[in-house]
Amino acid sequence: MAPEPDPPLLDIIDLKTHFDTEEGTVRAVDGVSFTVPRGRIVCVVGESGCGKSVTARSVLGLVEEPGRIVGGSIRFYAPAAADAGAPADGAAAEDTADTAQARSLDLAVLDPRGEEIRAVRGGRIAMVFQEPMAALSPMYTVGDQLVEAIRLHLPLSREAARTRAVQLLERVGIPGAERRMDAYSFQLSGGMCQRVMIAIALSCDPELLIADEPTTALDVTTQARILDLLTGIQADTGMSVLFITHDLGVVAEIADEVVVMYLGTVVEQGPVDAIFHDPAHPYTRALLGSVPRMGAGARQRLASIRGNVPHPSERPAGCPFHPRCASAVAGVCDTAEPPETALSEDRRVRCVLHGDAPPAVPAAATSEGATA
Ligand code: SF4
Repeated sequence: MAPEPDPPLLDIIDLKTHFDTEEGTVRAVDGVSFTVPRGRIVCVVGESGCGKSVTARSVLGLVEEPGRIVGGSIRFYAPAAADAGAPADGAAAEDTADTAQARSLDLAVLDPRGEEIRAVRGGRIAMVFQEPMAALSPMYTVGDQLVEAIRLHLPLSREAARTRAVQLLERVGIPGAERRMDAYSFQLSGGMCQRVMIAIALSCDPELLIADEPTTALDVTTQARILDLLTGIQADTGMSVLFITHDLGVVAEIADEVVVMYLGTVVEQGPVDAIFHDPAHPYTRALLGSVPRMGAGARQRLASIRGNVPHPSERPAGCPFHPRCASAVAGVCDTAEPPETALSEDRRVRCVLHGDAPPAVPAAATSEGATA
């Protein structure tokens, strides 16, 4: 019998995170499924308001009220039995789908304030936020914040935790690490603060790092340095990274896998090369078509995707992208949500053009929603 494939580190299945508001229920995340394999960088990309950050926050139980997970699962797997060390009698435990399932934790059903999620959050899974200045407390030195994060998850004395904190600051490239331990966040630049946040995130050797637009608030030079730092640490440690961004340039630089989201759903996912060289979904093509090109003429207008992402409470019927899609087929795309289609073993797309019986595409559909 063929061996069971290794489970991924994180398996998000049909996740639904909704917000009950006075105006009605906002389906911010509505049936999202994707995996984060071990040792890979998965980038979730899409415009603002497409549900990327809510998906990331759902993983760690950080969705603010009135938001709550109303369906689906977020399975977080422990290392395979063989990786965790052979048992004392030397017999390697065989990993089956059942034992792998038993070793996993469904983060979607944990109490967001409970012991179990608190042991995972900041320990096995760490998060780096968009605004490092806001994420760090101005009331405590960066050293105090690092030592606290370390001692929360590791049984170290204050002295040992401080030594580890200095090593972490050195590892993320902060010059004069010993001296910087006594600095406050307002005494550091944005790039320095983000390095401190990354040091805090790495303090307990996480298996998964979630980075929510960690370079958006930084200038391009600092952004490039932080990306180099993250990819270097990922290569050294083998941790997995779930990277949230709206920037396709960042995706091209760091991603192994790409998940494209639109209005709370995943519209396309697959390996980065396939997505960039042969995008299948009209939204992915329109996003790529909107990227400014080097060498474009000075008078050439930048392409953009027509219209805006609607508010999730005003989700269009049928395919949510149809009001902006140049390939939309009247009577088809505006009536029923397209099912997900597997293009290959590792590529999926949600569009009727790739279904079993694709409808005829209007002749005018050439620019996939991008307007110049
Ligand atoms: Fe466009 Fe229709 Fe495909 Fe949606 S299902 S992306 S509207 S062609």
